[in-house]
Amino acid sequence: MNSYDVAIIGSGPGGYVAAIRCAQLGMKTAIIEKYSTLGGTCLNVGCIPSKALLSSSHHYEEATKHFEDHGIEIPGDIKVNLEKMIGRKQAVVDQTTGGIDFLMKKNNITVYNGLGSFKDATHITIKGEETIEIEAKKTIIATGSKPSNLPFIKLDKERVITSTEALKLKEIPKHLIIIGGGVIGLELGQVYRRLGAEVTVVEYMDRIIPTMDAGLSKELNKVFKKAKCKMNLSHKVKSVERVGDKVIVKADNKKGEEVIIEGDYCLVSVGRRPYTDGLNAEAAGVKINERGQVDVNNHLQTSASNIYAIGDVIKGAMLAHKAEEEGVFVAETMAGQKPHIDYNLIPGVVYTWPEVAAVGKTEEELKADNTAYKVGQFPFRALGRARASGDIDGFVKILADKTTDEVLGVHMIGPRCADLIAEAVVAMEYKASAEDISRMSHAHPTFAEAVKEAALAATEDRALHV
Ligand code: FAD
Ligand code: NAD
Repeated sequence: MNSYDVAIIGSGPGGYVAAIRCAQLGMKTAIIEKYSTLGGTCLNVGCIPSKALLSSSHHYEEATKHFEDHGIEIPGDIKVNLEKMIGRKQAVVDQTTGGIDFLMKKNNITVYNGLGSFKDATHITIKGEETIEIEAKKTIIATGSKPSNLPFIKLDKERVITSTEALKLKEIPKHLIIIGGGVIGLELGQVYRRLGAEVTVVEYMDRIIPTMDAGLSKELNKVFKKAKCKMNLSHKVKSVERVGDKVIVKADNKKGEEVIIEGDYCLVSVGRRPYTDGLNAEAAGVKINERGQVDVNNHLQTSASNIYAIGDVIKGAMLAHKAEEEGVFVAETMAGQKPHIDYNLIPGVVYTWPEVAAVGKTEEELKADNTAYKVGQFPFRALGRARASGDIDGFVKILADKTTDEVLGVHMIGPRCADLIAEAVVAMEYKASAEDISRMSHAHPTFAEAVKEAALAATEDRALHV
């Protein structure tokens, strides 16, 4: 029987990164993946394909709506070739997942293709083309998540769909109804709105992206409304029915009145559930909690002491970079090191345009904690760089401790915020004050100057350019 120091079940960003780090630390490592390609949700049906379609649709919008402002005239009609756009997305995915094959080989990691199930705490059965058994001294569960659903919705995966189908539609919807105004709904909603679909968002809470700072929700809502998306907030969906090529969604609004929305596609994006189907966790003594997550302690160790779990299948934000950090953390813990993850400093990003990004505490959280804080906010429209490119929507907001000036949270919406947030993460990791950021030189003209200006505003209300 093949024996390993560590076996990893699941090859998403949690699993494959854990495998590489284990191999780097000298462990004999195997990774088990039930699908034929490595990379998990993120590479196959998540981060990478959605960003490919966001980029393609962004180019289309630029060409149809903004090129003219820059003095670029394109004779004739500009058309979308959806098949080609989806084909390009798939090529990006294929190239990226192929890259993981290369990394596994390079690090001498054995890849098993098949469903991994525990026989006991040190033996795993792999059901692929043939069924085999391996022995592993330690195992990392990195089985990720799947889309969740509402109990009364039948997902036919043709017109009542999840993000997985929305990434490979054969036609542009005429009217896409989106249930859930969270990250997936807004990213994919923006893709299809740009391509010409009418888009209606139906959100249960009174604001979109409800876990982020309320200022960001408000600003992003404005952007969607400006793009003529219908934003139905505080709506409780009651039923979703497919009738031929139509989908009819019924919901109650805030006043309790019934609202009927008719479209041709309905994307259900109400969150994701941890995935442990077929894992046979009980056989290894691994406890699954009432939320369906693998239960872990602070070392990410499960109730079986030689088995760890990481990523979407455990508590916490369902983000690729969180899963990666946890993969490295567990590998280093198993090697006897003492790694650390500061969950407060895991940034969250929504890749709409303008991009939304945040790290640390929101204003709502600081109020709830009774923390005295001050706010420095700076609008992108006041930046030369933003005007030069025509990306003037949004702002950077820095929340700092009222007494010590330490940065407690940074929330931004605007051009390239997905990248700009990295500066805030570094600053907060080193416990910078708003004044520290404000005294560092930021190249001119850049979007990053908005971070410096917001820091100046937080320090002494002395932003220079407003
Ligand atoms: P996964 O990536 O879900 O991987 C788990 C793997 O385990 C899968 O390949 C699965 O097939 C395999 N598996 C499960 N059970 C078994 C078994 N018993 N045997 C063998 N294999 C098994 N996050 C971001 O940070 N940024 C983004 O931009 C972003 N965009 C997203 C867009 C979409 C549309 C979606 C759906 C998600 C997005 N996410 C994004 C979330 C991100 O994809 C997840 O947080 C991340 O993939 C979690 O990684 P993971 O390793 O925990 O699990
Ligand atoms: P989400 O949690 O971001 O959003 C779900 C939304 O649905 C919330 O706004 C919630 O209030 C709403 N909702 C829940 N029940 C509802 C109901 N009955 N009716 C109407 N609205 C309802 O979940 P998601 O958008 O499905 O994404 C799943 C996960 O994938 C998230 O945890 C996210 O972190 C991850 N993801 C991340 C990125 C990124 O980092 N850019 C992109 C896509 C997905």
